[in-house]
Amino acid sequence: MPDQTLTKPLTKNICPQHKPPDIERYQDNGGYSGWRKALGMAPEDIVELVQKSGLRGRGGAGFNTGLKWSFVPRGKGSPSVKYLVCNADEMEPGTFKDRLLMEQNPHLLIEGMAIAAYAIEARTAYIFIRGEYHLAAVRLEQAINEARQAGLIGPDILNSGYSLEIYLHRSAGNYICGEETALLNALEGRRAIPRAKPPFPQVSGLWGKPTVVNNVETLCNIPHLIELGSEWYKSLGRCQDAGSKLFGVSGKVNKPGTWELPMGTPIREIIEEHAGGMRDGLKLKGFLPGGGSTDFLGPTDLDLPMDYDAIAKAGSRMGTGTIIVLDDHTCPVGLVLNLSQFFARESCGWCTPCRDGLPWVVEILTRIENGSGTPEDLDLLQEQVARMGPGNTFCALAPGAAEPLQSALRLFEEDFIDHIRKGRCPYR
Ligand code: NAD
Repeated sequence: MPDQTLTKPLTKNICPQHKPPDIERYQDNGGYSGWRKALGMAPEDIVELVQKSGLRGRGGAGFNTGLKWSFVPRGKGSPSVKYLVCNADEMEPGTFKDRLLMEQNPHLLIEGMAIAAYAIEARTAYIFIRGEYHLAAVRLEQAINEARQAGLIGPDILNSGYSLEIYLHRSAGNYICGEETALLNALEGRRAIPRAKPPFPQVSGLWGKPTVVNNVETLCNIPHLIELGSEWYKSLGRCQDAGSKLFGVSGKVNKPGTWELPMGTPIREIIEEHAGGMRDGLKLKGFLPGGGSTDFLGPTDLDLPMDYDAIAKAGSRMGTGTIIVLDDHTCPVGLVLNLSQFFARESCGWCTPCRDGLPWVVEILTRIENGSGTPEDLDLLQEQVARMGPGNTFCALAPGAAEPLQSALRLFEEDFIDHIRKGRCPYR
C-alpha cells in the first residue's frame, strides 16, 4: 500500500552520509513502483493526472507541466518520432538543487523520465547535463545502465511493448545552453543560440519533432505523483501551489544549504529556521528569491510564502526557489556587478541588447563601484534596463539579467548615490 503520509518525496531516498541508492536499494524502498503503475495506464490519463495535480515547472518559469505535455500532438497523423529532453544544465547563479537530486538519487530522475516519455509517447530521451556536473554524470550513467539491465528501460519494457532509450549528453558549457531552444540546437550539434517561439518545442523541437523539455526537479516529482495521485500531491503544498520543492539559501547565513519543504513555506522560515538566520552582527538587507535572474525583495517581504503568484505579486519571481541573501555589510553594487559580469560572459551574442548592452552595464557598474561613476551613469543604467526588457530579445537571458539590476537601482538607490558622492565604495 503506497504511503499517503509521505511529505518529502524528492528526498525520501536520500541519506547524505551514504552513496546514492543502487537499483536494488531504490526498489526495496518502493522505487520504480510509479513506473510499473504508469505502464498499466493510458498515456493520456497520465498527462491528465499530472495536469490536474497542478505541478509547475521547477526550472524557473513555473509553467504547468501537464499542460505542456498536452501540447504534444498524438493520434492519427501525428509524427511518429517524439523526444523527451531533461534539462540538467543547472547554471542559474545561486542554484544548486538539481545537482543534489542527480548525485544523491539518480534513479528517481530516470524513473520520472521513463514515465514522462511514456506519457508523451516518446521512445528516445536525452539528459542534457551541465559539463561541470561530473559526479552527477557518472552516477546517472551508472543508474541508466542498472535500469537497462533490470529491463526498466530499453526494448519492450516489462513485456509492455513500449521501448525507451535514455542517453546522457554532457554540455560543452555555457549558461545559454540551458535555454530550452538553445539546448536543442546544442544537442543537434549546432551553435547554441535560442530559436524563435512559437513554434514551441512541444510541436517542433529536436530535429523538428515534437519535444518536451523538462527540468530535473520537475521530472523527479513524477514517480510519487503517479503512485499517490494528484490530490495527495496538492495536499503537500501550504498554498495554492501544489507539491513540495527544493528551496536553497546562499549568502552570509549560518547554514547555507538546500531543503525539501512544502510549496508556500514562508521565506522567513526558510532563512531563519532552515538556514539558521544571518551570521552574527549581520542584518538582512535584501534577497533574490529565485536565483540570480530575479528581482530583489526587501526585509518587509520576508513573510511572503514561496509560491509563484505571491512572489510575482510582490514584484519578483520564485524562479528556481533558491534564495540569495544580501546582508548589510556586502555592497549591493558589487553584487549586481558580479551577476552582470556573469550574464555578460554567458550571453550567446545573438541579440543586440544582450550582446552589447550587458558589457556596457558591466562597464558602468565597474565605474560606479570603483568610485569614478557620475549621476548620469544611473540614467544610462535605467536606459539599458529598458532595452534589455522582455520582448526585445529571443530569450530570457537579458530580461533576467535586468531584474536584479532594476530592483537594486530602486531598493538600494542610496548605495549607488553614495558610491558616486564619495568617489569610492563605502563598503570597503
Ligand atoms: P518560458 O516562460 O518562456 O517557458 C517556460 C516553459 O513553458 C517552456 O518549456 C516553454 O516551452 C513553455 N511555454 C511557455 N509558454 C508557452 C505557450 N504559450 N505554449 C506552449 N508552451 C509554452 O521560460 P523559459 O525561457 O523557458 O525559462 C526562463 C526561466 O528559466 C527563468 O524564469 C529563470 O528563472 C529560469 N532559469 C533557470 C536556470 C537554471 O539553471 N535552472 C537557468 C537560467 C534561467
